[in-house]
Amino acid sequence: MSLLDRRTVLIAGVAVTLAGCSDSKDAGSTASPTPSATAPSSTTPPPSTTVPTTTPSSTPSTSAPTLTSTAPNWNTFARSLTGRVYLPSTSGYAAAHQLFNPRWDSVRPTAVVKAANPADVQKAINFARTNKLVLVPKSGGHSYVGASTIANGLQLDIGALKGMSYANGVLTVGAGARLYDVHAFLDRYGRSLPTGTCPTVGVAGLTLGGGMGIHTRTYGLTCDRVVSMGVITADGKAHNVSATSESDLFAALRGSGGGNLGVVTSFQFATIPATKLGFFRLTWPESQAPAVVRGWQQFARSAPTTVWGNLHIDAASNGTLSIRVLGVSTTGDATAAAAQLEGFVGAKASARTLSVKSHLEAVKYLGGGTTSPRQGFLAGSDVLEGPMDSATILVLLGAVKAAARAGTPASAILDPLGGQAAKEPAGGSSWPWRGALGVIQWYSSAQGKSAQTFISNGHRAVGSASAGGYVNYVEAGRAVSSYYGGSAAKLQAAKKKYDPTNFFHTPYTLG
Ligand SMILES: Cc1cc2nc3c(=O)[nH]c(=O)nc-3n(C[C@H](O)[C@H](O)[C@H](O)COP(=O)(O)OP(=O)(O)OC[C@H]3O[C@@H](n4cnc5c(N)ncnc54)[C@H](O)[C@@H]3O)c2cc1C
Repeated sequence: MSLLDRRTVLIAGVAVTLAGCSDSKDAGSTASPTPSATAPSSTTPPPSTTVPTTTPSSTPSTSAPTLTSTAPNWNTFARSLTGRVYLPSTSGYAAAHQLFNPRWDSVRPTAVVKAANPADVQKAINFARTNKLVLVPKSGGHSYVGASTIANGLQLDIGALKGMSYANGVLTVGAGARLYDVHAFLDRYGRSLPTGTCPTVGVAGLTLGGGMGIHTRTYGLTCDRVVSMGVITADGKAHNVSATSESDLFAALRGSGGGNLGVVTSFQFATIPATKLGFFRLTWPESQAPAVVRGWQQFARSAPTTVWGNLHIDAASNGTLSIRVLGVSTTGDATAAAAQLEGFVGAKASARTLSVKSHLEAVKYLGGGTTSPRQGFLAGSDVLEGPMDSATILVLLGAVKAAARAGTPASAILDPLGGQAAKEPAGGSSWPWRGALGVIQWYSSAQGKSAQTFISNGHRAVGSASAGGYVNYVEAGRAVSSYYGGSAAKLQAAKKKYDPTNFFHTPYTLG
């Protein structure tokens, strides 16, 4: 989805920019990667810290499973690392364990380990296994359900593994890199990568769950561009997986969501050209909303694969609906695409803007800048197998309208799939929605009951038109299997083979 659009809601006809999108601490400290680096490298954090010898205080309970710690020897462990260990009593712990969404601040891991290199990752996994601690990896920290933190467990932060190098069209990147940094680095070579739009989302979480964005229809999902990955499995073994090496794990990692099968430490991606992009932004009055949804569905099915456009149905604070499409043409000219959409809708837009942007201008435009602050929200999703019928469209619009009338900030954001994303990439994947029309995201910056009511109403509204959910928009209270569709059996087989003891285990993982 477009972060710009996600963060800009029309309130009583006035555009109001909401808080943005970054993990304030880590994002701000991202070092500029060097083009000449030869392999993913890490910045060197201070030497291993001496940690207090006191047993960590107990943490608030969450829905995460609890394994009993048998008095781990944190000092010995910390001394073995190049990176650092933070216990609740360590200075810096409060910032160290935070995720992007402040709603998870109250979840206090037994320890946060900031790995400095893949060897630290191996040591942390071995230490957690030996001490019967649940371990969750954290890259960008943007998990919708706080799956990259855990009470009574070990949070393994790999954010320092963010080195990058580029050669012959291939980007090698540490799994802790954030999206803006990846784009800024690739721009130096006239290259890009299909990703999402938020500048501070981690390349690891995004890629492992699929990765949708403006290039999805032209070049496929982020996971489709992966050539190989460095991954450390539950037994502490390092693997370099690709289409020709442990191809079952390679395919399983491409789309199953993070935290399931191992800790990825690096990626190699086949990059794409960083071309100029044509943008269009079309707005219609609420009275045209059913026609716009119908037209967008036709557009998602029939527009050229060089064209992408996502539909935003937002609850405005005056109780009305704001309806708009943000579109992109990867050929650089969006005029024909905008006209085609208007043709499908059967009505000219009431407002329109067209523009052409360079690669990095487009990245900043969509991301609302190069970084942004932490943000609270609640969200969920439904994958549309095909077009919704007119009755379903009216119920969907009714769900957003009900939120608008209740004064709940709410959006239904429809992202198209199709084009290259409909094709299974060489080497295979576990992304289960190749034939789908698109994904609806139900998003609210309110986080309490009103937001949950909106999301539940949204799920009910699309009901039988939904094939499942998008794992990168994972939500609480939903069966994990609903994210995997036809890939479930393949993923269970990979889980059994590569994590037979279910070491990587939270309420949101395969198991
Ligand atoms: C503001 C915002 C905008 C977004 N925009 C888009 C978008 O445009 N397109 C899109 O497709 N998605 C988008 N997303 C969803 C995003 O892709 C997912 O939330 C993704 O999982 C975040 O990855 P992360 O590394 O930042 O998060 P984290 O919370 O660090 O990780 C997410 C999951 O992956 C696991 N994980 C993290 N690192 C690793 C690793 N190295 N190895 C194995 N598992 C790991 C974690 O344990 C957790 O389960 C957006 C999310 C937010 C909050």
